[in-house]
Amino acid sequence: MKTLLRPFTNEPFTDFTDPANKRGMLEALDRVRNELGRSYDLTIGGHQVRSANTFTSTNPARPAQVIGTHPEANAEQAERAVQAARTAFETWSRTPVADRVDLLLRAAALIRSRHLEFCAWLTFEVGKNWAEADADVGECIDFLEFYAREAVKLSHSTTPIQFPGERNMLRYVPVGVSAVIPPWNFPFAIMAGMTAASIVCGNTVVLKPSPDAPTIAARFVALMEEAGLPGGVLNLLQGGPEIGRIIVEHPAVHLIAFTGSKKVGLEIHERAARVQPGQRFIKRTVLELGGKDSIIVEADADIDSAVEGVAASAFGFSGQKCSACSRVIVNTEVYDTFCDKLTERVQQITSGDPADNFYGGPVINAVAHKRVLDYIAVGKTEGRLLTGGTAIDTPEAGYYITPTLFADIPPHARLAQEEVFGPVLAIIKSQDFDDALAIANNTEYGLTGAIYTGSREKLNRARDEFHVGNLYLNRKCTGAMVGAHPFGGFNMSGTDSKAGGPDYLTLFTQAKSVAEKLGVVSAELEEQEDRMGI
Ligand code: NAD
Repeated sequence: MKTLLRPFTNEPFTDFTDPANKRGMLEALDRVRNELGRSYDLTIGGHQVRSANTFTSTNPARPAQVIGTHPEANAEQAERAVQAARTAFETWSRTPVADRVDLLLRAAALIRSRHLEFCAWLTFEVGKNWAEADADVGECIDFLEFYAREAVKLSHSTTPIQFPGERNMLRYVPVGVSAVIPPWNFPFAIMAGMTAASIVCGNTVVLKPSPDAPTIAARFVALMEEAGLPGGVLNLLQGGPEIGRIIVEHPAVHLIAFTGSKKVGLEIHERAARVQPGQRFIKRTVLELGGKDSIIVEADADIDSAVEGVAASAFGFSGQKCSACSRVIVNTEVYDTFCDKLTERVQQITSGDPADNFYGGPVINAVAHKRVLDYIAVGKTEGRLLTGGTAIDTPEAGYYITPTLFADIPPHARLAQEEVFGPVLAIIKSQDFDDALAIANNTEYGLTGAIYTGSREKLNRARDEFHVGNLYLNRKCTGAMVGAHPFGGFNMSGTDSKAGGPDYLTLFTQAKSVAEKLGVVSAELEEQEDRMGI
């Protein structure tokens, strides 16, 4: 390895109460503000490419403000991007793992050196307040650093058993061309994380970011080139579902790494399963989808701590996290107290422009704004509105909605079952702990969950019986940290890929078993081994 790797540690959070950091962020916002509205290109085979059609990305806090103008890729460009990735695979898959790892580390260092600038881009493009943007950038760096180390580990792993008279190896080789299709809500960390995992394993990538967050992706691709990534290894196509479908179905795309909604994920699963003319392999899909995440609050819990955890999980980034708490299941004994305290807490949230660092920001776009307001109308028929429930009008016409709480939502109501993806929380009453667990497990999803209780027995039972991919005990259900909380959901929440975990990279490789009879040729394999993929 060219770089001596220190053990992985998570990137520290930025303390914005420190005047120097606050000043740094304000300066970064000013610098980035001066760059808003630029035009960007597609990247195909290392070349900058335009398209006849373009679209703009706008600031959800002030929709008239254009963040970037982007080419909308067409079918012919998608074909060229896949072919460029195919050609680059010939050499990238044989590039020593040490070089691929160094690339990720160089990219991480570049992002770290521009940390606040990337935060500012996230604030403008998707409406993250400073802390949320900081967490996204930090997670992005963590993914690059973590997968670099995991790639090294994987390159050293082999089968534990040697058959007598043979030399046995199990090596993890790249898969081929992968399509990476991320969502808009962690447009830096998830977009870069899936891309980096694929690349460090020796695959080449066609990246199609969300049309709600194309600028941050375009800037990441440029940064990867600056870090030394050869042309064709990472190709950028911009656009929506149509271009997504074309790359998913392309017979030369071997693997699809997708994070997004259940609906689109299932469609991709189905399309990828259909063998196309000329296709010579079974496509692999890595799908991380939506959630309907619950927090259980028992009567023996520290109620104040539960109120804080629920408020942060439900209303951080205006509830637009797959891990967001959207149902809190509260024991009947403390139900009224909890509702009162949570209402008081939620009413303290102030909403406004994330660039000014308000806690409550806008939802991502006009469609989401309408969808959330429609769910609020449903909630009014299904439960009791405690607070919120309205759009907030601002002079800039940002897509704001007041943090909204509904009490007395029945466990099978739509508000208790469907992913809202906005600042709306359903409160459900439970009679006892069995009832609470049954309610928590009664959705088709299974992403995150949490429980607040003072009982060891209940924690133990939750560990066994609360069926989610990421379970948290006496803490909030958002804020997964790379390495410590490998992330991915059960049931309709996805294929449980566990991003940021020790098994993730194997999803981007295929294991090849090699058995050599000893004593026929002298054993001079080591150098060749390192030259091949991982
Ligand atoms: P989305 O499913 O609408 O879009 C995700 C991506 O898929 C975008 O790039 C989009 O352009 C593309 N796309 C849309 N239709 C397509 C099609 N037919 N074929 C191929 N690509 C297509 O999701 P979103 O609104 O961007 O993100 C929010 C969703 O993502 C929520 O459901 C949230 O829970 C989920 N999410 C899950 C995780 C996780 O780790 N499980 C993390 C973040 C977000």
